Parts: sequence; structure tokens; C-alpha cells
Amino acid sequence: MKALLLVDIQNGFCPGGNLAVPEGDEIVTLANQLIGSGKYDLIVASQDWHPADHGSFASSHPGKNPFEIGTLGGKPQMLWPDHCVQGTRDAELHPELRTAEIDLILQKGEDRSIDSYSAFRDNAQDAHTGLAEFLKEREITELDICGLATDYCVRFTALDAVELMPSVKVRFIEDASRGITPDGVEAAITEMRAEGIEIITSEEALAG
Ligand SMILES: [Zn+2]
Repeated sequence: MKALLLVDIQNGFCPGGNLAVPEGDEIVTLANQLIGSGKYDLIVASQDWHPADHGSFASSHPGKNPFEIGTLGGKPQMLWPDHCVQGTRDAELHPELRTAEIDLILQKGEDRSIDSYSAFRDNAQDAHTGLAEFLKEREITELDICGLATDYCVRFTALDAVELMPSVKVRFIEDASRGITPDGVEAAITEMRAEGIEIITSEEALAG
């Protein structure tokens, strides 16, 4: 059984959003082709879903600016612009994404005291979202991952996928993903490859 996991394809991470990833919206067409391809038995989308006072926001740290390093839960934390606040347009999945065909939309990042890049568990690797159990129950053996952003939420999601579900074949669809910085993307791909994640194109994903 094969699943597709679409990471955080939300307004907030697309141009015009509060934490825009360059060209983030350009993946929507490919994501829709993957959704409609018939190649997947199960389609899951994650959604960054923060309370307005989330601790990852620079605005929650007096004197700090976005993209500075602060601390959260006693650990270093990249401080972000306010983004994907629950109930706002910024948090909605991209309006052109074929959401009607998505089987599960999984929200993360609700606990203000910890950030949650991975769709599987928070950044302390503590609180789990239940996604691994959900995929195991549905006997998923292959998982293709794409989305935003390659160097943060996609990377942590893919690395958790191989760690939490060692028997599942995990692939990262590079051209159906975008990152915040080129260096960050390169590091993420190197790390994913080292952990046994196959790096593929959407063409390869659509082929089989
Ligand atoms: Zn976030």
C-alpha cells in the first residue's frame, strides 16, 4: 500500500504568505497531478496550525526579530514571523490544492511551548501526532513525501518517517517541494539520502 504525504502546502508558505517560501506556490500543480494520479492508496496532508501566541514566533520574544535564534523549551529555536495562525487565511491549505481527494488533514504545532516541524512528532521528539500509527494501521509500505519547506518541515517529516517506520520505503519528491534557502535544501537532501530516503522527481513518482 502506497501513501502520499503533502507537507504544509499552505498560503502562509506561498508567495504573499507570512512565511513565504520562494516559489512555494509552484508545487501546487505537481501536487495536484500526484493527488489525481491514481498511484496512491492514501493521501495525507499536514497543516501548520499555531495559536496566535505560539512560542516559535519572534513576536513572542521581546526584543527578538524574525529569523534570529532564540530559545524555546530551553533549546535553541529559529524565531519565525507569525505564520499559519489557526483560523486565518494564512493557515489554510493552498486554495488550488485538490483537498477533496485528501484522506486525512493532520494539524500540528498547536502546543505553544514547542515547535513541530515534523508531521509525526514535535521538535523534542516527544508528543506524537498519531500519523505513524495511522499509516501502520493502513499497512502502508511505501511513502512519498513532498511540500514546504524542504529544509524544515519536509526534512524533519521524512527523517521521522524512516526512523519511526523502518520497514516503509520513503521517497522525497524533489521538484514537488521548495525550500527556504539553497544551502538548506542541499543539506536536507544530503541528510535524507544518508538515511536511506530515495530522492526522486514527480515524473518518477507518476511513473510508478
Ligand atoms: Zn510553524
